[in-house]
Amino acid sequence: MMLRHLQGIGMTSQRTRDRMIKRLIEQGISNARILEIMRTTPRHIFVDEALASRAYEDTALPIGYNQTISQPYTVAKMTELLFENRESFGKILEIGTGCGYQTAILAKLVDVVYSVERILPLQKKAIQHTALLKLKNIRYTHSDGGWGWEEFAPFDGILVAAAPTEVPEALLQQLSIGGVMVIPVENSEGNQTLQRITRTESNFQIEELESVSFVPFLAGKE
Ligand code: SAH
Repeated sequence: MMLRHLQGIGMTSQRTRDRMIKRLIEQGISNARILEIMRTTPRHIFVDEALASRAYEDTALPIGYNQTISQPYTVAKMTELLFENRESFGKILEIGTGCGYQTAILAKLVDVVYSVERILPLQKKAIQHTALLKLKNIRYTHSDGGWGWEEFAPFDGILVAAAPTEVPEALLQQLSIGGVMVIPVENSEGNQTLQRITRTESNFQIEELESVSFVPFLAGKE
């Protein structure tokens, strides 16, 4: 792919990305490192060519297979919640790779990202997208994220991009002591709340944060 495509022009240019960052700051995102990474990571290469001009709007966009790329605010907020009060992470587990945009942001912040996606063609796209950015510290697997990724557990952080009705037990078990999970959970009325779960020596501390809207967390793989 041409350099010009990576950098973007017009609605995909650096100026458009700068405007997105300004909006994120107005919306309350304050972690300078995350803002800088989002400022310099092209988001338009993660969506279809036809949607590229909308890549920096504060909205979720379709990525095929009934799934969406999370809106920039959501990506920034979840990452910020994960990193609050900590400098770095060794290993992060991401459930719901989708197009790989959140994966790329995480890869620039941690040693290794382990990313699980249940829809194979989406995983393939994500691999292509992150290869364009020459990111090498990402491991992908095609699996049901409800099982986590036992082989590489425990994880210092877990970020879940689809909403289950209950936090999967395997994910809790694969969190290291002191580790943090950020996950949207849907209640019986269909409302979703973002939760941050911190594992302590003896149990799990749960913080209920803001209302969110994620695609459902589905079992099995396709
Ligand atoms: N961060 C991604 C979000 C994509 S939407 C992005 O911005 O592109 C959420 C993704 O979670 C979808 O790709 C969906 O297929 C995936 N997903 C849903 N349930 C899952 C599960 N049990 N295991 C793995 N992936 C899952």
